[in-house]
Amino acid sequence: MRIVEVRENTLPLSSPGQNAVIDFSEMTVSVVALMTDQVRGGRPVVGFGFNSNGRYGQGGLLRERFIPRLLRADPRTLLDEAGRLDPARTWGVLMRNEKPGGHGDRAVAVGILDMAVWDALAKLEEMPLNQLLAKRHAGVAADRVWVYAAGGYYYPGKDLDKLRAEMRRYLDLGYTTVKMKIGGASLAEDRQRVEAVLSVLPPGGALAVDANGRFDLERALAYGEMLSDYDIYWYEEPCDPLDFETHAAVARRYPGRIATGENLLSTADARNLIRYAGLRPDRDVLQMDPALSYGLVEYLRTLDMLGESGWSLRQCVPHGGHQLSLGIASGLGLAGSESYPGVFEPFGGFADEYPVQDGYVRLPASPGIGLEEKAALYPILRDLIA
Ligand code: MG
Repeated sequence: MRIVEVRENTLPLSSPGQNAVIDFSEMTVSVVALMTDQVRGGRPVVGFGFNSNGRYGQGGLLRERFIPRLLRADPRTLLDEAGRLDPARTWGVLMRNEKPGGHGDRAVAVGILDMAVWDALAKLEEMPLNQLLAKRHAGVAADRVWVYAAGGYYYPGKDLDKLRAEMRRYLDLGYTTVKMKIGGASLAEDRQRVEAVLSVLPPGGALAVDANGRFDLERALAYGEMLSDYDIYWYEEPCDPLDFETHAAVARRYPGRIATGENLLSTADARNLIRYAGLRPDRDVLQMDPALSYGLVEYLRTLDMLGESGWSLRQCVPHGGHQLSLGIASGLGLAGSESYPGVFEPFGGFADEYPVQDGYVRLPASPGIGLEEKAALYPILRDLIA
């Protein structure tokens, strides 16, 4: 088994929205094709990967550093004893001559290639990724995964009626939990926005809110107090993702669930969060996104660390709204996965054939991560290997 070529293309990410901190209109995405010399079902096995949303494409790092390093490596160093592609060994090759710390964009670039490696491995084993993971970890893949609709962005001219209409759309699509941005307006306006969304939820529906790390302690606490007037599913990223002391101060005062972790890009950062951010294993939610943080190989280390620290994997709901996180959630028994209906297309979202029902989505049976099961994404993948 050899990797014969790796191709990369950087594309614009079509998403007009804005959260409390950034505007997505300039954002890009890298998509890679990892081409092997193996054939399954009469077709060459190609693994695909891309970066999750919220970070930019990584064409420079991939083309200048990581792809050449992978292709220069002795092919045997990428395989396990049985001659199968080994994601952990491949990861070790990618990270040769990389010092610890300083994660950032490097973690995203490696995550893109790691996704392609897992997609290729699952195709070589002729299994969907979730089944492959369940088999390797002696578990049973969940046949459906809880997902929630992340939206509620700020757009110019978006009033409460439009916000309510957006949330009704998600409910009509089959979601029962929705999420909206906060912190991009005044607290009084955000209170009205929260009440507007709560007013359209059916019995059993739930609302989470996301401040995207915008608040200082004082504002985080003021919002926490406002949110405590309502039944809020979780309060996401109240403060800077690496300011663990402020997290701890918020956790001492806010009794509801806090969710965070999407901007922690390594196991080392996640460990610091668990050690110092005062989060509560009985309620808080961890959202590390494997595709942004050195891939699934590193995420497995993070999950091990969480287990050793007394956290259940049922507290994990990875960020990103992509099929890698969905497959991991199913295969490893996480609580769920994020979803961005209609945003970050065509990279976000799940297989076309499987609509969300009662807040859950099923996974395709095709080998790999299932990226080919999205009609809007498939032409991009096909063009890359043409
Ligand atoms: Mg978020």
